[in-house]
Amino acid sequence: MRYILILILALFSFWACKRVDQSDKKQEKPCDIELTSSEQITPNSQYLAQAVLWYQKSAELRALYLQAFNLAKLQLQKFTGEGNKKPAVVLDIDETVLDNSPYEGYRILNDKEYERETWNAWVEKESAYATPGALDFVNYAKELGVEVFYISNRTIDLLESTVNNLKELKFPNADEKFILLKENDSSKESRRLKVSENYNIVMLIGDNLIDFHQVFENRGDDHAYALVDSMRQEFGSKFIILPNPMYGSWEKDIYGDMDTDAAQKDSIRKCFLNSFRP
Ligand SMILES: [Mg+2]
Repeated sequence: MRYILILILALFSFWACKRVDQSDKKQEKPCDIELTSSEQITPNSQYLAQAVLWYQKSAELRALYLQAFNLAKLQLQKFTGEGNKKPAVVLDIDETVLDNSPYEGYRILNDKEYERETWNAWVEKESAYATPGALDFVNYAKELGVEVFYISNRTIDLLESTVNNLKELKFPNADEKFILLKENDSSKESRRLKVSENYNIVMLIGDNLIDFHQVFENRGDDHAYALVDSMRQEFGSKFIILPNPMYGSWEKDIYGDMDTDAAQKDSIRKCFLNSFRP
């Protein structure tokens, strides 16, 4: 009986250790898998359908944007008297003030990856809608005497179309003085510094961590969890983040160089999923 008990305890310890190992492995990077052969047909963009449907059709998405902009209004009132310079708010454009989900819809229906040519064709249609609450918020900021800047990584050749789209939607400050697009540098830091020469940036609004601070350009090995935690006081205060399940810088941690083919990406996505084992 005693030996049976020892055997059971030994087996239990072995099982428990294995469980710990498996849970530790979930934190490891990169995802160590055998990639699917690219000869196996995997559609490029079908996996996006649920995210784009949620973005376009769920009232929850609408409510989240309204919630974020309502909070931004409340917080903005607190900041207006700070500093010697005129206060300013910096907003990203894509999936912050403009909804580009029809471009993602095009990708799904035509099974395309993101391509500069098709993206430019979408932007040049100048037909993106405003995101919920965005126009109301920027008008409120202007009323408070807070200047409004748009810093976006749309490329500079898309300036005219961007201005036209924002003007059509009646966004204030829709001109090149207040819209800073990407010229050479993907980092938004130099453009934030340029704004800071004459303004006190009191709030930043975006759907991507790099819209807020340079530190998020290198996310480290933990998908930027520690960085976000270290700046927890800023979220909902100086930083207002919006939901975007369709794409973002977070994907670079998953796919690496992003040039991986569709079949490999499909395998990588599955490998990164945290899943229980029945
Ligand atoms: Mg964006």
